[in-house]
Amino acid sequence: MQKILIVEDERDIADLVGFNLERAGFQVMKAHDGISGAEVAIRERPDLVILDLMLPGKDGYGVFKELRRDDRSRDIPVIMLTARAQTEDRIQGLEAGADDYLTKPFSPKELMLRVQAVLKRSDGPPGQVEITYGPFRFDKNALKFYLDGEPVELTSTEFKLLLFLTERAGKAQDRNDLLRTVWGYSDEVHSRTLDTHMKRLRQKLGEHAAMVETVRGIGYCVSSL
Ligand code: CA
Repeated sequence: MQKILIVEDERDIADLVGFNLERAGFQVMKAHDGISGAEVAIRERPDLVILDLMLPGKDGYGVFKELRRDDRSRDIPVIMLTARAQTEDRIQGLEAGADDYLTKPFSPKELMLRVQAVLKRSDGPPGQVEITYGPFRFDKNALKFYLDGEPVELTSTEFKLLLFLTERAGKAQDRNDLLRTVWGYSDEVHSRTLDTHMKRLRQKLGEHAAMVETVRGIGYCVSSL
């Protein structure tokens, strides 16, 4: 059974989200402030964290940074939750590296779609477990990426983007296809953050950054070898 941690100080929302997740067959843990939220996530290593941004003790961004700094929680996908509906806040959340973002009020159905999309993504696609392409090597089970044999820390979003492009190397991939593959749908916010993710990905690729090409008017492409 997959475990999901809800970090949310508003107990009626935490209970509602928990109720829906339990009904869908998940094991649910709850924390009601940022400090205990980070502690529980690191100790229990849930499959997913649903993280409210406005929290007592330590805010959601602080909790998120702490999870990403610690080896035990670095790979746990996070869906950020907030009352702030501003586009800039949503972009900030995604650019911080959150796997997805949900604005209150949301419907239980919307929540479940996001949860399932994020968990499916972090499970990794089926098929061959290891893929080697030029300097790239992907371990799809462990979600690890190696560049010239050296491990490089990619977020689950960066991993998914680069894998998708590499599996289709030599062919330009449309922005909307990339968005749908990685986030399950495409919209204006995600379209803007796609470019940020690609930029950060290229930085991590260092001298091999040019293998990820921008294809004007279409999207992105991993070069042919
Ligand atoms: Ca709150």
